[in-house]
Amino acid sequence: MKTAIVCGAGGFIGGHLVNRLKKEGYWVRGADIKSNEYGNNSADDFVLGDLRNHEVCESLFDRKIDEVYQLAADMGGAGYLFTGENDADVMHNSALINLNILDLSRINNVEKIFYSSSACVYPEYNQMDPENPNCSEDTVYPAAPDSEYGWEKLFSERLYLSYYKNWGIQIRIGRFHNIFGPQGTWEGGKEKVPAAVCRKVAQAENGGLIDIWGDGKQTRSFLYVDECVEAVRRLMIGDFLGPVNIGSEEMLPINDLVTLVAKVAKKEIFINHIPGPLGVRGRNSDNTLIKEKLAWAPSQSLSEGIEKTYQWITEQVANPQQIVN
Ligand code: NAD
Repeated sequence: MKTAIVCGAGGFIGGHLVNRLKKEGYWVRGADIKSNEYGNNSADDFVLGDLRNHEVCESLFDRKIDEVYQLAADMGGAGYLFTGENDADVMHNSALINLNILDLSRINNVEKIFYSSSACVYPEYNQMDPENPNCSEDTVYPAAPDSEYGWEKLFSERLYLSYYKNWGIQIRIGRFHNIFGPQGTWEGGKEKVPAAVCRKVAQAENGGLIDIWGDGKQTRSFLYVDECVEAVRRLMIGDFLGPVNIGSEEMLPINDLVTLVAKVAKKEIFINHIPGPLGVRGRNSDNTLIKEKLAWAPSQSLSEGIEKTYQWITEQVANPQQIVN
């Protein structure tokens, strides 16, 4: 039986990844500073601990581990990452986790380690035009991420690549682009755009008004979490190291996302544009490389994913006591 550690298993994508590995027959150890807030935890073993702490990280490797999936990071939505208020924490905490987990994977002869990087590594200067952002993998340099979160991701990509170069450790790097779906943070300030819009629409009356940061003309694409996990598994099974984009090419303005969610909710919704942290003007995944290297691209439409997510968030809004802390 193959064994895996999922760092960040208490989080959104980590919880879904554990489920997937369990379905594939792995023995899985989850690790996180918090338990999964929506009870999405099917791991065989769960270490509740701070991965900034080297001893906690060491304790994860008390048996032969074949694969490590490193998803733990100090992160959140635009309200957490783009105000600048959390920059020192974001850089310090996430870098320390990566330093610990990667080095211990080397020492303990882990066969392969996956690192979850982000579209936030791409330079701001290629994402000023909302209609034509350029996020193909080879445009990352000269580096100019728009946030310290992006700089830490870029530093850590280079850290993993250095370990591959100098130690031969098998690494795989995926750059996630706005992953969404059920059992993701939907309130409290760390939620991402799709979850925030679903919550606001779920809480609004028919004909109601919801707040959107900026003019709503900023564009993004969103990838449903099951597709993300599928891409991670394909990357781990294949020979290609990455970094490679894991995202959707179905880009739309945030105003259109609101229209889509309102349609799913069967409500008429009006938008109140307010100032707020925005990030880049436009961002879209470029899937040329993943199609070439993994012969794969996402197959679900955005509206299919939004339907499932909206339904789940509606249930959370109606029954918040269901949340497991
Ligand atoms: P998440 O916040 O739900 O999960 C991250 C987990 O890391 C959390 O459960 C958190 O408790 C844990 N963590 C943070 N600090 C820790 C510490 N010191 N010790 C132990 N655990 C700690 O986020 P997610 O959306 O599931 O993202 C997973 C990974 O993918 C992250 O590395 C993130 O940067 C990356 N990513 C996500 C997206 C996205 O759209 N969700 C986009 C780009 C990159």
